[in-house]
Amino acid sequence: MKIVIIGNGVAGTFSAQNIRNLDKDVSIHLYSKENYPYYTRIKLPQLISEQVTISDLIVFNKNWYVKNNIELNLNSEIKKIDTLHKQVFLNNNSLPIHYDKLILATGSLPNIPPIKNAKKFLRNGVFTLRSIQDALDIKNFIVSKKVQRVIIIGGGLLGLELAKQIKNRDLDTTIVEFFPRLLPKQLDFDCGTLLKEEIESMGINVILDAATEEILSEQEVITGILIKNGTKIDADLVLIQAGIRPTIDLAVEAGIKCNRGIIVNQYLETSMKNVFAVGDCIEYNEQTWGIIPACMEQAKIVASTVLGKRDKAYKGTIPKNTLKIIGIDLTSIGLFDPSDKDLVGAGWEILKNIDKKSKCYKKIVLKNKKLKGAILFGGKKAVPYISKNIESEINEDELRKVVELFKWRCKNCNYVYDDAKNDILFKELPDDWKCKCDSPKTMFERNPDNI
Ligand code: FE
Repeated sequence: MKIVIIGNGVAGTFSAQNIRNLDKDVSIHLYSKENYPYYTRIKLPQLISEQVTISDLIVFNKNWYVKNNIELNLNSEIKKIDTLHKQVFLNNNSLPIHYDKLILATGSLPNIPPIKNAKKFLRNGVFTLRSIQDALDIKNFIVSKKVQRVIIIGGGLLGLELAKQIKNRDLDTTIVEFFPRLLPKQLDFDCGTLLKEEIESMGINVILDAATEEILSEQEVITGILIKNGTKIDADLVLIQAGIRPTIDLAVEAGIKCNRGIIVNQYLETSMKNVFAVGDCIEYNEQTWGIIPACMEQAKIVASTVLGKRDKAYKGTIPKNTLKIIGIDLTSIGLFDPSDKDLVGAGWEILKNIDKKSKCYKKIVLKNKKLKGAILFGGKKAVPYISKNIESEINEDELRKVVELFKWRCKNCNYVYDDAKNDILFKELPDDWKCKCDSPKTMFERNPDNI
């Protein structure tokens, strides 16, 4: 049996690996339009700041493919699929490449918001960052045009990580975010505020609630951006990191059912027989992902399906994101803001540890004692416990220990101050704070046995 995989990112590569683990004999052929074997995109911003080299990014070198008997075709963009004859083509004149099973792991492309002139100046002052080539182009532009001021449109994970590395090049760096807080998909308002302070303390400017309207230029050279409220911000380089969208063109043209992504069922089968899809490009249950854990999970399932087993079904992946900036520990898992979704009440419970002095924010979301999500900022001690127990029923005492939330009882009147239910930790209350019975803080004992 011959399996053809289009795409050599996380999803394509790990699908190939999982298939090989299950079957030593099938022939596996990977096609990538890029010029590099599988590399990690996580560190692309560091390529711009020259903190890593291309070889640092390569996860599997060419020997890995040889050892696993996987044929790797680089610089080989598949341009057409003929599902009727089970063939793919590199271009209009090329010989057909036959497949028995085809896996689409075409990934995603950077989303470019409708900003006037953004497309006109793309790769000439306006860039997105998705590949090694993009990073090299940005770096070359910075050097050759003697760039001093950079705007990053998009205050999501990738935008922030990119901003940090731009700042590391000693450039004037400004993040412009459409939403009124940073990381709108990962944080609630309170934590977004804390993060903004941290980012600004690194010397990065942050402008929130700002819709970019136009890329400004003079004599075909970009000079900055115009925000909808009329503000102009000067820049020599504009980087757009405004999310990703599934790459579906090839599938659409082949008549495979697509919506935002390539539509798959729980076995990652597309609407076309013998064609499967995996990774950022898919849409399952009206959802798309675009995170590495989802790719890894799906790669296992698709491997099993293409080999005819159909013993594993996909149920979706709980989002888990960690900001990768040195000096900031931030992880967001699952459902972190039930208030956003009108879910408060009905068994939902929120435990919070807001330690403003040490700039820590821990928020745990429970439903009927089941752990549904968390935001962990300013420390990663609790991350393994939360990751391990997500969607499980948990012991509240154990949880409170992990996230350091205590109950304090007044020895005079038995009033209980619960760290988890107040916006200020007991230890953070001013020294002259008084219990409602007028007792001072010193009358309180921490975590007495019988409450
Ligand atoms: Fe009291």
